[in-house]
Amino acid sequence: MDRRDKLVLRRQKIRREVFEILGGVFCQKCGNTDIRVLTINHLDGHKEPKTQRINPRRRYRDIVNGVTSKEELKYLNVLCQNCNILYEYERENRFPKMRSPMLE
Ligand SMILES: [Zn+2]
Repeated sequence: MDRRDKLVLRRQKIRREVFEILGGVFCQKCGNTDIRVLTINHLDGHKEPKTQRINPRRRYRDIVNGVTSKEELKYLNVLCQNCNILYEYERENRFPKMRSPMLE
């Protein structure tokens, strides 16, 4: 195992710990358990400016190290990439650039 593999595994371990803290290693919408596609999602109405600005890697570390407050954790959940994108589309009023009309 080379250095790159070790780094990937270390990041995956942190991601797994974070998802467990946030409720489990699965998408809370569709149930996907493939850790490669799971992400942290910000629930609608989340207006904590401090959380929004943290870079993603730092956010994962902060959650594992207990730096993230319980209050902030309430506004985070686990979604897969697909469900995360759909979640953003569905609240297009907040992000007009992400409008995605669909043919019936
Ligand atoms: Zn999903």
